[in-house]
Amino acid sequence: MKLKNRWLLKALWQTSGQLRRSPGEVAGAGGGGWIAPFKNAAGASATISSDFELCWAWRSLSAAACQERGETERNNIPFLIEVLNRTKVPITWATVGHMFLDHCQTGADGRAHPEMPRPPKNRLFEGDWYRHDPCANVAKAPGWYSPDLIQTILDSGVRHEFGTHSFSHIDFSQETSTPELVDAEMAACVAAMRPFGLKPRSLVFCFNRPGYQHAERLFKAGITSVRHRDGMVRLAYPERTASGIYKLYESMNLRLASRYDYVDKAKIFIEEAVKRGAAYHLWFHPSDDPRVFEQAFAPIVEYLAAQRDLNRVWICTMSELAAYCEARRTTRVEPVPDPAGLLLKLTTDYDSRQYGETDLTLTIKCPRRPASVSVRSADGGSTAPVSHYCYEQEAGNLIVNVSCRAAVVVVEI
Ligand SMILES: [Zn+2]
Ligand SMILES: [Zn+2]
Repeated sequence: MKLKNRWLLKALWQTSGQLRRSPGEVAGAGGGGWIAPFKNAAGASATISSDFELCWAWRSLSAAACQERGETERNNIPFLIEVLNRTKVPITWATVGHMFLDHCQTGADGRAHPEMPRPPKNRLFEGDWYRHDPCANVAKAPGWYSPDLIQTILDSGVRHEFGTHSFSHIDFSQETSTPELVDAEMAACVAAMRPFGLKPRSLVFCFNRPGYQHAERLFKAGITSVRHRDGMVRLAYPERTASGIYKLYESMNLRLASRYDYVDKAKIFIEEAVKRGAAYHLWFHPSDDPRVFEQAFAPIVEYLAAQRDLNRVWICTMSELAAYCEARRTTRVEPVPDPAGLLLKLTTDYDSRQYGETDLTLTIKCPRRPASVSVRSADGGSTAPVSHYCYEQEAGNLIVNVSCRAAVVVVEI
């Protein structure tokens, strides 16, 4: 029998520490209190990441089990795309770089990828790191290459993010990686993704084992966010590291639970994130049993979409969340007296080349519905009216999204 009582379930996760509060979980005031913690002034953000890896993650299993994982993952993709299309939910596909290739071949010394450094230690299996690489092509070995799946996801109706999960599913932690190895892995990912017009900004560490000692070189390679596992904290505002990379705390790993409904757990965590103004992050292995997706993934995504439609959560990819937080951190907002109403001057050091373009959401105290709102961008363009904004009558809040390039916002009252 499954436990259904919400109050009891919540108490259970409070007791186990999964809903513990942390000092860093709350967003500080952005832009002098003018910039909302999340886009659209939503109560929380919600991010989903997928460790997209086919056979690469399962090389320590038997050959048959490894192949089966790859096949199951391929078979699950149409269902996942259908759910995400139907709900218009974008996710981050943290993809093993080798999967962007449509073929590869054995090197002159008889090994696959002789140009790539090997990890200094391999806890998973004996022999060469690339010994399972079939050195064939997507038609012959669809568990090791997947430009077809990547193109299908790119052509779907939703703008998903492709992040990276290293080139060959390498553990970036101290014992199993070196700076040269990380540089080579990242360069190989960047090169493999380029033909698709993609560039990785988000990284999911393999085996969830962090490699923060490489943070500065990862940032140089273009990474702005990583998924972060913390034994204590599941819900937190994204945390900027000194390197410039944002740690996005993982909240839950998708699965089915025997004693309760996993969808109930997700709803409790999402509600808690909204209450606290925190980021919720769900991650999954697309190679899991299809029942996990039918019974947990689809209902959770549908719930999130409904919460988004009520503007309780902002659903965003990993790099979008990092971009918003960084633009919020680096933008200052200064009110200037103006006879027409209110004029806000925005100045910023935001590095849009590194983090990408983003909008910022301003929350402006306004005694009545404004007659007009207009924005002038920093590149000297003319002032353009903003057609979509929200005015909350009761609270007297004007909520307006402006580009990170906005220099002046004029509110005519
Ligand atoms: Zn290969
Ligand atoms: Zn993995």
